[in-house]
Amino acid sequence: MIISEMNTVRGGSSKMLKIYCGKCRFFLCEYQKDGAGNLRRMYLDRIIKPLISLDKKDLSCGNGHIIGVKIIYKKENRLAFRLISGSFVKEIIKF
Ligand SMILES: [Zn+2]
Repeated sequence: MIISEMNTVRGGSSKMLKIYCGKCRFFLCEYQKDGAGNLRRMYLDRIIKPLISLDKKDLSCGNGHIIGVKIIYKKENRLAFRLISGSFVKEIIKF
């Protein structure tokens, strides 16, 4: 991973998460989340080391469980996956 990519944090707190499928615990990716609050969306440009394809319409694990649906987040005009609540588990990566 290129560490300098993580220096583009936009104000506020930022944390690294590991995202797994909630059904089968398939490791999906690492994600840099900015700000507080629940994880409802994953922006494509904050997804790191994905083990799954980001090119498809849906975000799904290696076993075909659907985790999210690709959207354009209009407020910021950014590609994101809207996550289906309960379909994934997250783990905070400690530095
Ligand atoms: Zn799965």
